Amino acid sequence: MTHEAAHIWQWNGTGQAPGGLIEGIANYLRLKAGYATSHWVQQGGGDKWYQGYDVTARFLEYCSSLRAGFVAELNAKMRTGYSNNFFSDLLGKTVDQL
Ligand SMILES: [Zn+2]
Repeated sequence: MTHEAAHIWQWNGTGQAPGGLIEGIANYLRLKAGYATSHWVQQGGGDKWYQGYDVTARFLEYCSSLRAGFVAELNAKMRTGYSNNFFSDLLGKTVDQL
């Protein structure tokens, strides 16, 4: 429910954002609400940052440890479009460096 409710409030970069990022943001909110389950990967798990769901949620958790409020700021930038440069705009490192 937390995951699906997040979809109501999040921006999708006018359809340009990776689907895995959209699902990862929804699961990041679930994680912060305390509803991650034991089968989720740990931080650093998975193959790609945009893999989605738990993998991307853990990646966003890491990004948020570098800048408080990161996910909210990223979501705000995704109102009018999407670029991987949003990560370097906010954190000073490319998404691949992160
Ligand atoms: Zn979803």
